[in-house]
Amino acid sequence: MVINASLSAAAANSAAPAVHHRRVGIVGGGQLARMMAEAARKIGLTIVVLDPTPGCPAREFADQIVGEFDDAEKLAELAARTDVITLDIEAVSAAVLAALERTGRVVAPNAAVLGIIQDKLLQKEFLARHDLPTSAFRALTGTTADLEAFGIPCVVKTRRHGYDGRGVKVVERIADAAELLDTPCLVEARVAIAKELAIMAARNWHGDIALYPVVEAEFDRRANILDTIQAPACVTDSVINTCRALAERIVNKLDGVGIFGIEFFLTSDGQVLVNEISPRPHNSGHYTIEACATSQFEQHLRAVTDMSLGSVALVRPAASFNLLGEPTAFGSPRFAGLEVAARTPGATVHLYGKHSVKPFRKMGHVTVTGATLEHALSTARSLKQVVKVTGSTP
Ligand code: ADP
Repeated sequence: MVINASLSAAAANSAAPAVHHRRVGIVGGGQLARMMAEAARKIGLTIVVLDPTPGCPAREFADQIVGEFDDAEKLAELAARTDVITLDIEAVSAAVLAALERTGRVVAPNAAVLGIIQDKLLQKEFLARHDLPTSAFRALTGTTADLEAFGIPCVVKTRRHGYDGRGVKVVERIADAAELLDTPCLVEARVAIAKELAIMAARNWHGDIALYPVVEAEFDRRANILDTIQAPACVTDSVINTCRALAERIVNKLDGVGIFGIEFFLTSDGQVLVNEISPRPHNSGHYTIEACATSQFEQHLRAVTDMSLGSVALVRPAASFNLLGEPTAFGSPRFAGLEVAARTPGATVHLYGKHSVKPFRKMGHVTVTGATLEHALSTARSLKQVVKVTGSTP
């Protein structure tokens, strides 16, 4: 099955860089930066990352400046050594990035986009302002009336710094939320979810947009963390077209440059609601490395460096799962089952080079492509039973 890029030209972005960038600075040197740096080589770009941990995952493929993400001096150094700055994480101060922009540096996605996305309340308000369908929500102002506004159970989320389900709580009884009343949070109506879907959408400085296939996500409910992705999603054409149209509107309304991961809920009564937006490559797009003509990492770099976007054709159906630390894993990582994966046709293991493991920490991922989605999925499910990450200290 082949899904072609949807390319559309919008008005050229006035902030577009005048030159074709060759050096990219990334704030954060985690696995996303690592996979961007691997992709960069293919298209002749060099990468410098800013990360506080010496020998961070990206270091193997990139130069590193050791420093905190919000350290204005280190960011200025990163900017001086590169032509455009992009992100591996969202927990960067939008104000610090805005200050960098005022000195004429190019940041993509920019500080304004990051400012909206990194605060879940501002993100929901953005969606509501543009009539983009999303679950009912309101700010939690410290009263239990907010918690009861959409009925119990409801979902409470911290406005900032939540990721991988950290900072998301399903509130079954008002008492469960007592400790959250003093934290900046929002309350959402609890959605009856039939399926969780996602799409990667890339947009470059000229407003060209490329939409990857809609995929289906399964979560590990022990940690509320993304577990398995199947590409393409098994949903109707009408649902796919709705997701695609929403994604296109979102990146245009944001005037965003780069790749964006957009997550949706397909509700049990057939509606598509936008759950959240990520301003960067996303876990649900890792499958693109093996399964699509252009990986999400290469595409992001193409978008931010003012290149034309690559084809997003799905070359083969795929299933991808995270290699998470086992629930009791600490210390140095120990990998089991890698030789089984190596013998499995269509399977690729990605390890992120992290020096220590913790319960549910993302240590790598595995993608399996197959002639059919069923084949890819069943192979991935068998491999998931044997490829494991434990630690040196149980
Ligand atoms: P994170 O940014 O940490 O990934 P999300 O907002 O995506 O947090 O929420 C994590 C998971 O919690 C979702 O994938 C979904 O399974 C569940 N969830 C989030 N919001 C709702 C909601 N309003 N109703 C029901 N489930 C929800």
